[in-house]
Amino acid sequence: MLAPPEREALSESIKTDVAIIGGGITGSLMAEHLSRLGRQVVVVEREQPGFGSTRASTAMLQWETDSTLSELTDLYGFETAANVYRRSRAAVAGLTELVAGHGISCAFQPRPTLYIAAKDVGEKELREELALRHRAELPGAVLSYSALRREFGLDREAAILSPGSAEADPLMLSWSLLRIARGYGARIINADAVNFHNEGGRVLVETSGPYAIDAAHVVLATGYVMPHFVMPACHRISSSFAISTVPQTPDNLWPERALVWEAAEPYLYMRTTAENRIVIGGEDEEIADPQARDAMLPDKVLRLKTKLAQLWPQANAEISHSWCGAFGETSDGLPLIGPVPGASNIHAAYGYGGNGITFSFLASRMIAAMISAEKQGWFEDFALDRTVKAQS
Ligand SMILES: Cc1cc2nc3c(=O)[nH]c(=O)nc-3n(C[C@H](O)[C@H](O)[C@H](O)COP(=O)(O)OP(=O)(O)OC[C@H]3O[C@@H](n4cnc5c(N)ncnc54)[C@H](O)[C@@H]3O)c2cc1C
Repeated sequence: MLAPPEREALSESIKTDVAIIGGGITGSLMAEHLSRLGRQVVVVEREQPGFGSTRASTAMLQWETDSTLSELTDLYGFETAANVYRRSRAAVAGLTELVAGHGISCAFQPRPTLYIAAKDVGEKELREELALRHRAELPGAVLSYSALRREFGLDREAAILSPGSAEADPLMLSWSLLRIARGYGARIINADAVNFHNEGGRVLVETSGPYAIDAAHVVLATGYVMPHFVMPACHRISSSFAISTVPQTPDNLWPERALVWEAAEPYLYMRTTAENRIVIGGEDEEIADPQARDAMLPDKVLRLKTKLAQLWPQANAEISHSWCGAFGETSDGLPLIGPVPGASNIHAAYGYGGNGITFSFLASRMIAAMISAEKQGWFEDFALDRTVKAQS
């Protein structure tokens, strides 16, 4: 297993082009991209990089967002919704190219997804969703009950089968990207960023130690710990739970090792790992307190085990790991990416939602463009001060 990238202590105040606060998957993607573009980059991380929500992630790298295309169309109209989906798809393709281009060893595997019927979403609703996706020139096919049973052995009314997603080990991916960024000259600093001051067109990042970082641009990649001056009303922190089984015999897993997720809110999701384990997660709760979250874990493990037995009865359901983590969501299911209102040269990279990592990739490309003063109308779709419409 790869060792964590080394962090250096600040021994003096420094000046840099870009200071990225947070060394999880978002900060790592930002650091690799910006340093490869020739920017002088400093990553500020107060703990072990990747030990925030990145380590807890089940890392299903999907282009289908938590809000369906139909839901986003109801909120923002078809063109905007279709563009969000296309950009999300391009982000997974970009991530795939990035991993292949650097030869990163992180158990990365392209996977199809199976979006399975649940509760009041049945075959009719899935067909309507797929018709809209086809109108947006997105791929996929509906499997009826009998086709889903025959081809995947799953007992649900129907599913949408879509190509173009992937899975990975998120910690290995994050650490590898930080190492690559270091190779391009990025510095990884062990410090807690406690305050941000706009001064003379630059940003002074105060740390908990005696030294400060003077940056032309700051990127906030702090995960679910948002600085107080950011906090848009549309975001909330909840909790998610997951279990992993002991390794299965390979013939005891479903075809193509598809990423499976339910058409429900909150939804159940399931994937396999490089060691032939089954990871199943969900059971989200609207609680942010870590102690309350931990206290719920034993009950959630039992619930997830029951759901695994319903979905894939042939699994060896002996559990090897169980965990939980903070999970950030927005009312419309879209991330928060772009300038922080009222704070010059401070950019937010909050890839919230069940495909947060896909959005982290998107954030890295968008913010790099913003730092180069590139403007695109569609950036507004993810802006922190957008008029967020909530789903009914
Ligand atoms: C159980 C679970 C399952 C998930 N499953 C999926 C999935 O299948 N697919 C998917 O795409 N996403 C999934 N997610 C979401 C995904 O994990 C997150 O979107 C992603 O990890 C966010 O990464 P990040 O780098 O933004 O945040 P983090 O990994 O939390 O990193 C933020 C870092 O910032 C540091 N930091 C914070 N404040 C400061 C400061 N002031 N100074 C210095 N450092 C600071 C922290 O120490 C931390 O290391 C899941 C999340 C959970 C909890």
